[in-house]
Amino acid sequence: MNVSAGGWNLPSFWLSQLDLPLRRPPFEGSRSVDVAIVGAGFSGLWTAYFLQELDPSLSIAVLDREFAGFGASGRNGGWVSPYFSASWSQLQEVFGEQTTVRFAREMLDVVDEVGTRVSELGISCHYTKAGSISLMRNQSQVKRAMEEFSNLQRRGIGGGARLLDARDADDVLKVSYVHGASFTSQCATVDPARLVRGLADAVEARGAVIYENSPVEEVGDGFLRVGAHRLSASSIIVATEGYTSELKRWKRQLLPLYSMMIVTEPLSDRQYEAIGSPELGLCFADYRHLVIYGQITHDRRIAFGGRGAPYHRGSSVHRNFDTHGPTRKALHRELIALMPALQDVRIVRHWGGPLGVARDWQPRVVQESGTSLWRIGGYGGDGVSTSLLAAKVTAHAVLGRSDASAAAVVFRRSPRAWEPEPLRWLGVNAGLMLTRLLDTLEDRGVAPRSLERVWESLTGQS
Ligand SMILES: Cc1cc2nc3c(=O)[nH]c(=O)nc-3n(C[C@H](O)[C@H](O)[C@H](O)COP(=O)(O)OP(=O)(O)OC[C@H]3O[C@@H](n4cnc5c(N)ncnc54)[C@H](O)[C@@H]3O)c2cc1C
Repeated sequence: MNVSAGGWNLPSFWLSQLDLPLRRPPFEGSRSVDVAIVGAGFSGLWTAYFLQELDPSLSIAVLDREFAGFGASGRNGGWVSPYFSASWSQLQEVFGEQTTVRFAREMLDVVDEVGTRVSELGISCHYTKAGSISLMRNQSQVKRAMEEFSNLQRRGIGGGARLLDARDADDVLKVSYVHGASFTSQCATVDPARLVRGLADAVEARGAVIYENSPVEEVGDGFLRVGAHRLSASSIIVATEGYTSELKRWKRQLLPLYSMMIVTEPLSDRQYEAIGSPELGLCFADYRHLVIYGQITHDRRIAFGGRGAPYHRGSSVHRNFDTHGPTRKALHRELIALMPALQDVRIVRHWGGPLGVARDWQPRVVQESGTSLWRIGGYGGDGVSTSLLAAKVTAHAVLGRSDASAAAVVFRRSPRAWEPEPLRWLGVNAGLMLTRLLDTLEDRGVAPRSLERVWESLTGQS
């Protein structure tokens, strides 16, 4: 963790690049507002933004335990993608074909909406729509990619995605070992810390008050408690994502799963040419099960991340978990395996943070029954664009405005809790081990389909 001269704890490379002002003052005393929001990440801030858009007269307070952008929103891989944490076939089972297709189109559109909103708000966050390439690096990945591609095409929700053979894939990004790839131009990147800090300034400029250094210890129907201080509100929205398990009443709702990142120094001309001179802002990943993701940053670095860090018993979240030596080494190894030309590149920073994962990998906007208390989140690793859609649904629901979007149907479902411990710990970590094993066997060309089915039922993914 970097502690800068101003006393900031900066848990990511992106945040460490910013010239941050002093922290905003904490909440003190007692006050009453129309809407109080816990958590100043994308969810909390976009919700404040849409509430202001729908009713500029509302008094809104946003409280963060640390500062705006401290959580996943200031730390992520910066993919503004149309991807959703649950598969389209999972959604189809629950909502049927029509709603699923409508929702998938809303997810495609939100990639552009993020760009439009940040440009209207004058937020300079390097929003670049350079597309994303998903590489197929063994025969199992080829099969999965083909199935996924034809499913999307059949439903008309491919968003202009196209298949590339190995040679065409090389023209987009030169990596070792590639059978082919799918490419979509409907994907953008941002510097996430710039986006979330800019959004905080924007909602503040429109009249919301943001309190930093304000840990909410109790959430009741109509009030929040921060130490001895009490904030009353007609509506309360909890947007604490990967930290939600720390609030006792929602301990088993969202599982904190750590995702980790590394970032390189800016590539030299030689290194950049050796990986095919990709477009700045390009996203890249492959079809393995243990997710990896990268972006070519605006200043020609590679920001590269992945899963695989352990889940901690009791859904605990701690600053010490924000870095993880073995995952850092594994990410470095994977990056070099993908791009051997970067053998000598220096890794200048490693960090991570908790994702909020719902039991069925589907995010929610939940109203606690009979109260004016709401919860938003559970995006898995896909919250940069999804949080905007969820926030819009939340703002409409809180104000009782009609909302004909498919997102309103998809997000507004009853939640499902995770299993109690130690089952949760055993299940999640066994799932992680199985995920690694499956990827290794697929690389060797010997993964049985039966093992993949066990993996699907253990992790709730397909
Ligand atoms: C390493 C990493 C990489 C990722 N990469 C991508 C990506 O490339 N693309 C993508 O779409 N998604 C990605 N994600 C997921 C995405 O970042 C999140 O889904 C999204 O930022 C969630 O936003 P949020 O506002 O809901 O939560 P957060 O940004 O985590 O905000 C929650 C806030 O609540 C505050 N808080 C917690 N408890 C309290 C309390 N008791 N009182 C007051 N405040 C509290 C925290 O300080 C925090 O600021 C990634 C996540 C991680 C960790």
